[in-house]
Amino acid sequence: MTKERVKVLHRRPRTWYGLPVDITVAGNHWHRVVVLGLPLPHLGLVNFFARQGLPVDERLALTWRHEFGHLQMLPVMLAHLLLILWPRGRQNKSRWVRLPVGFIAHQALWEIAAESYVVAGSGPENFRSRSRTSWVIYIALWVVMTFLAVAGTMFMWGKKQSS
Ligand SMILES: [Zn+2]
Repeated sequence: MTKERVKVLHRRPRTWYGLPVDITVAGNHWHRVVVLGLPLPHLGLVNFFARQGLPVDERLALTWRHEFGHLQMLPVMLAHLLLILWPRGRQNKSRWVRLPVGFIAHQALWEIAAESYVVAGSGPENFRSRSRTSWVIYIALWVVMTFLAVAGTMFMWGKKQSS
């Protein structure tokens, strides 16, 4: 293992809708997001896979942007939540299936949204250092997340009980 100095990236911007946020990312995959004094724990799994093989500076910059992207996309995500939870007559699927499926679809879409924000805001220079393996992992991540989001959302929108 190569030794790396622990680097930290800390910024306190506002989202486009005015919410002040406080985001710190450090080292490999550690990050902390604080909104209105409230720390929001968030699994760093997507960042872990998405940043494989990148130099530490890019990893930090892109991970920071990913975390900020989550918050920038919050209004869109609330709309999605409404969409999948809106009551549409009686369901022929059990709540114990719908709840976890809806949760996973929502999380997956949120990861896609945050990562889209990363891609939209970073020039090609931010991706030039990806190796082939790193690209394969990154693209696989997109495919899996997109599948979970689309399939899960379609499941939640599935047909009502016809009887
Ligand atoms: Zn994320």
